[in-house]
Amino acid sequence: EAKRDTGTSYRFYNRQLHISAGHQLQLEADLRNALRAGELELYYQPRVDLITGEVRGVESLIRWNHPTRGLVMPDDFIPAAERSGLIVPIGYWVIEQACERLRQAADAGFPGLVVAVNLSFRQFHDRKMTETIFRIIFNANVDTSLLELELTESAMMHDPDYAQRCLRELSQLGISFALDDFGTGYSSLTNLQHLPISLVKIDKSFVQALGESGDSEHIIRAIISLAHSLQMSVVAEGVETEGQLDFLRDQHCDEVQGYYYARPMPWDDLVTFLHDRNRLACLPE
Ligand code: C2E
Ligand code: MG
Ligand code: MG
Ligand code: MG
Repeated sequence: EAKRDTGTSYRFYNRQLHISAGHQLQLEADLRNALRAGELELYYQPRVDLITGEVRGVESLIRWNHPTRGLVMPDDFIPAAERSGLIVPIGYWVIEQACERLRQAADAGFPGLVVAVNLSFRQFHDRKMTETIFRIIFNANVDTSLLELELTESAMMHDPDYAQRCLRELSQLGISFALDDFGTGYSSLTNLQHLPISLVKIDKSFVQALGESGDSEHIIRAIISLAHSLQMSVVAEGVETEGQLDFLRDQHCDEVQGYYYARPMPWDDLVTFLHDRNRLACLPE
């Protein structure tokens, strides 16, 4: 991905150790402007069902089309957005976009497509979160059962009572929840079993260590079997090879997401991708 390399200077001054206060302020000012100027864009990465081969859902992943630096990746500006609090308005913009895409997906002939968005720690702890999300989905008038929010263990475990209350309220609206990057934190699924979480996403570090460390096989197996016994589905992230895919299918992983099937892409490309896959699925053997 040639475009990937263009965010170098941000990446450089975004690293805490190298950062100067002036650069940090400049980045924040640029980012505030980016939201207003429409420079932020969501890319979408398909999630493929391992039994049917269908794309069941997509994850929205934010990009910054910077006027001079090209495409800037989230790891190079989300930390600054978290620190400054800008992640809160950005995060609500992301949910609005996702709702808009839900409607467009239905119009394009994919009415059951799930659209997932990432919720940051700070946004999850915004006091107006549930009421703002409620207003967004009410105005968008979409099928909320197709909206999925991805949260990490640390966001949920920081204040379990708060998490319980918020997840309950939002799941009553039909929204579903996924546990992102699972396995990298310190909680166990049993700590989280009382929360309305329907999906666990195995962190890509475990998938990518398959074949290199026997541990990752054991960990993946354990996560899948525990998740299933708690009635949660499992998505493996970062699937790049056929070998990884075969292992995950043998372990009854439900869905996979990764470069093996598709990279994150702009919405129009996603629509083309979905149409092509459908056409392929209709061909005689
Ligand atoms: P994440 O939510 O765990 O998203 C998965 C990341 O893995 C994405 O990186 C995706 O492009 C990457 N990925 C997917 N398949 C593969 C693969 O096969 N190989 C490899 N090497 N990587 C793969 P991306 O898009 O750079 O996003 C990084 C992180 O930034 C996300 O991790 C998420 O934590 C955060 N992020 C992205 N968009 C948003 C957003 O709208 N809001 C918030 N708060 N955070 C976001
Ligand atoms: Mg995610
Ligand atoms: Mg993840
Ligand atoms: Mg991640």
